[in-house]
Amino acid sequence: QVSLKLEKVTKIFYDKKYNTKVIAVNNSSFEIKPGELVTLLGPSGCGKTTTLRMVAGFELPTNGKIYIGNEDITFLPPNKRDTATVFQSYGLFPHMTVFDNVAYGLKLKKMNKEEIKKKVIDTLEMVGLKELANRAPSKLSGGQQQRVALARSIIVEPSILLLDEPLSNLDALLREQMRIEIRKIQKKLGITAIYVTHDRVEAMSLSDKIIVMKEGKIIQIGTPNEIYENPNSKFVAGFVGKVAFFEVKIENIEREKCIVKFKNKILEIPKYEKNVSVGEKAILMARPESLILKDNDGLIKGRVKINVYLGNTVESFIDTEFGEIMVQIDNPSMKKIYSEGSSTSIDIVPELCK
Ligand code: ADP
Ligand code: MG
Repeated sequence: QVSLKLEKVTKIFYDKKYNTKVIAVNNSSFEIKPGELVTLLGPSGCGKTTTLRMVAGFELPTNGKIYIGNEDITFLPPNKRDTATVFQSYGLFPHMTVFDNVAYGLKLKKMNKEEIKKKVIDTLEMVGLKELANRAPSKLSGGQQQRVALARSIIVEPSILLLDEPLSNLDALLREQMRIEIRKIQKKLGITAIYVTHDRVEAMSLSDKIIVMKEGKIIQIGTPNEIYENPNSKFVAGFVGKVAFFEVKIENIEREKCIVKFKNKILEIPKYEKNVSVGEKAILMARPESLILKDNDGLIKGRVKINVYLGNTVESFIDTEFGEIMVQIDNPSMKKIYSEGSSTSIDIVPELCK
């Protein structure tokens, strides 16, 4: 098990024809501990793939250094780095069977035939494909092809596994199953891994840590829980979940509580950032689960636009003077659901806000 470290890594792409440049990755530094799975999360074009490709050695940084363990690998060619990459577009060899695709890396290493056979079968078993060893990739479903790609990467026992949106070609149900499987296999093998995605649910459910990126820059690094509960910006808050923001005035700071005024009402907020000061304005962050609906004496009046039924919760979208606000109603069979078009009001549960 090894660690991975990026130190002030920058990648600039120059286009000579148009004389323009793109700063794809801007001064990125982070460290991944041995055996951790860390997700790069951010909108399309924010530099996730470029970061991964520099770790794999397919791109060289314009500036900065990359270390695996204590070794500086910044300028090593890809085949000299102990990394394996799984791409969104599987990248299987179409003319080879599943078995030969998976065996490929071991043949390159000149391992003997019997050993290869045993290892391939073991690995195919791990990804649930033992029965399909003799098929051609074209005769497999997308999910099965992605499993072959995963098997082909892990069989060479890389120290670092790199996954670039590996599940985005799969349908929703399969994606959910596969992400749990990938996580199980990664933990079982103890491989240090980087997982690239723009899907917040995927990032939340897989990762030891999430690195949120925007326009080439790292905005925040934290555990899924930290990123969700303590986002350091509106961008991060909104990217990892539904959220409403309200401008409040800070009236007082008592022990363990921040007293704020919102629409002439006093709220006591137990969780707040310590650098706020009395008399100043601040932003109150409310996740859908920290809002409740009331008949008419809630803080914010509104009208129900639409209710979305999701089984164990109902998402109620309310039109208000602050724009559309989503209120999440858990255990809906035990609560009142305001019908679409009816007027209602939203109350804030201060204990759950930031
Ligand atoms: P992501 O994977 O987060 O969608 P990328 O790392 O692919 O983002 O791209 C980051 C930025 O770098 C984008 O603006 C993209 O257009 C640009 N870019 C990526 N690869 C190249 C390249 N080979 N030449 C020029 N620009 C590139
Ligand atoms: Mg990408």
